[in-house]
Formats: sequence, C-alpha cells, structure tokens
Amino acid sequence: MVSRRLKDLEYAIRDITVVANEVRKTGKKIYHLNIGDPVIYDFKTPHYISQALSDATFAGQNFYVDSLGVPELREEVCRYEKSKNDIDIEPDDILITSGVTEGIFFLLAGLLENKSEILVPGPAYPIYINYAKFFDGNPIEYQLDEENDWEPDIDDLRNKITSKTTAILINSPNNPTGVLYDIKKVKEIIDIAGEYNLPIISDEIYDQIVFEKHYDCPATLSEDVPIIGLNGFSKAHLATGWRLGYMYFFDPTSQLQELKGGIEKMARARLCANSIAQYAAIEALKNPGPHTETMVNNLKRRRDYSYKRLRQIEGLNCINANGTFYLFPKIQLGEFKRWKNDKEFVIDLLKETGVCGVYGSGFGSYGKGHFRLTFLPDLKILEEVYDLIEDFLQ
Ligand code: PLP
Repeated sequence: MVSRRLKDLEYAIRDITVVANEVRKTGKKIYHLNIGDPVIYDFKTPHYISQALSDATFAGQNFYVDSLGVPELREEVCRYEKSKNDIDIEPDDILITSGVTEGIFFLLAGLLENKSEILVPGPAYPIYINYAKFFDGNPIEYQLDEENDWEPDIDDLRNKITSKTTAILINSPNNPTGVLYDIKKVKEIIDIAGEYNLPIISDEIYDQIVFEKHYDCPATLSEDVPIIGLNGFSKAHLATGWRLGYMYFFDPTSQLQELKGGIEKMARARLCANSIAQYAAIEALKNPGPHTETMVNNLKRRRDYSYKRLRQIEGLNCINANGTFYLFPKIQLGEFKRWKNDKEFVIDLLKETGVCGVYGSGFGSYGKGHFRLTFLPDLKILEEVYDLIEDFLQ
C-alpha cells in the first residue's frame, strides 16, 4: 500500500535516469544532459571550501546545530545578500535549509491546503508543481511566452489570480527556459502582488549564472511587497551534494510573521541542516573565490556553441538562454510524424544515441513539445552530443 501522494509524485529530471540506466546496460555510452549539476562535469568544488568542510568535522562540529541555522552563517548570508543584491535583512530573517529544495517544501507546506492555489511559471521547475500537489494545493501555471523570448505573460498571470491564490512564485533566471525576466516584467509582477496582497516567492538559485544581462533582485525592486527569497550553495558555490541553502524573509511591513513562525516550527521538527556544510559555507561566503566567474565564462562559450548547433538542426527551434545552464528547444513533432509527444522523442533519442535530456512535459503543461538539455559539459562532449542529435534527426 502506498499513499496517493506518493503514487502521484513525479520528477522527470531524475525519472529519465531510470530509462538511461536500462539503456546503459545494453552497452551504450550515456551523455547525462538531464541533470543541472556542474560538479559532475569539470566545475569542481573549490579546494578551500572543501578544506573548510574537512576542518569543521575534525574540529568536532559534528553535532546537531540550531534549527534555524548556525548564527554566524545567518549573519554571513545577510552580509552576502547586501553586497551582492543590496538587500537589507537581519540574521533573524534567515533560515538555513537543506538546499532550496527544502525551502520550497517548507514554504508550500506553510501556504497550501484544501486546493488553495499558488501561481508558478509555466514551464516550471517540476518540484513547484509536485510539492504543491503533495500538500493538497493547486499549482496554477502562468505562461512564459515562447513567442516573446520566454518572458512572463503578465495578463495571463493577472487573469489567473483567484480568491484561493496564496502567493506568486518567480524563478529568474528560469529553469528550464534559461530566461532572465526583464526588469519591467519583474516590477509588474511585484505591483500585481501588491494589488492583491500576495507575497512573492523568488527562487534565485541561478542569480549569479547570467550572461549578457544584469540580474536585478526582486527584493531590491519592492517597496513593501513581501518577498521570500531562496538561494543556496549548489550552483554558484559548486557544492550540489552538500545540500545546503537558505531562505530569507524580506518583509518590510511584517506581513509574513505567521508564515515565518510556522516554517520555523517545521525547521525545528526536522532538527537542523547539515552542520559541517554550514561551517564550510561561512568560509565560502567570507572569501568568495573566482570560481563562479570562471564557471560563467566557460558556460557562456558552451551555451554559444550549443545554441549555434541547435539552430542548425532542422526540426528544432530554440530561444537562447541569458542565464542558467539550460536550453529548452521545441521539437517540430508535426514535421517528423515519428513521435506522438516530447516524452516519446526523448526516450527514442536516449535509446538510439545515449543522449539523455528531459522531456518538456515534465515541466508542466507549457513544457509540452520541448526538451531540456544542459550545456554544462565541455565543448568536446557537446560536439559529440550535437553530432549525435543531428544524425538522429536526419
Ligand atoms: N530551484 C531551481 C530552479 C533549480 O533548478 C534547482 C536545481 O536544479 C533547485 C531549486 C534545487 O536547488 P538545491 O540544490 O539548492 O536544492
């Protein structure tokens, strides 16, 4: 027996790995372009951060720590957010989590019940949808418009607000489309949130992985609309496996006190986030090395190459990414007449070539007909991948 909650739980980004493992057994080389993990490629956790982790365990910091997070780390997060994004927050506004993933879990647990609604971007990072359903909520997707470089459709967002809406979630730079929302759109979303008295949840995990454009943090654009920001150490600090993140409450008019209190109770009920990773994170924030910038420069070359190749392949259309490490091409399913949908396409591509992407429908209804590929691998691997995709489609 298993609950309906778990029966219905899906996570396409890793569910496709089950198929990839079967294909590997046939002797085929697998190209894992499905998971957004820089550390499995040539972007390694900086030595001084790993050293700090090892020092922490040998110094005996192996006990349960404060449920809200190690106080020194909460202070460092405030300083870091101030220097990076010019946000004024206090250590009390910070909760250290086991990754942004746990932050989203906590927030949706605190906001949703009895089919109350949360507005999420469509296409959406899958856990926004899956965790919302898990908590008996109703995730409502507002459209990111592919015709308009995947920018959010503000009218669509406004039209989807109902009396049951509890919050608006934004994720810019966005997974899976790679769009960094235009500052005007972010301001418009903040205005709408203010009009309807809704908080904004801002998943900022890719805020430092941007290419041509400048990232503007929503909390710096808001005067009194409450914003709950989510960020962590997985991507910019190259420590995906450490499972460490944080949530900050930017709440100038104290509208979030009840929600914050509830989430803190949940944090106590799960004891604490990883203690030694928190001590290492203090070091990462105090001494930011060149690793993020180096990664972004390398990623830009990899994005340029991937985008160029995708544009040359007949039957695929692709909008360029100005942040993250994903591209989200559209498959002209009608032209090929070989696959019924994006999932069939991705599985067939995987079986024939070993190239493992993620089917777009795994990112909600607006993802249908697309697939997501990461451009994290080095250029040599990307060249092999795009040769394979090109041959496959020919
Ligand atoms: N949010 C987005 C948009 C992501 O793409 C990911 C991972 O790919 C996460 C959150 C997960 O972050 P973490 O490793 O901090 O749990």
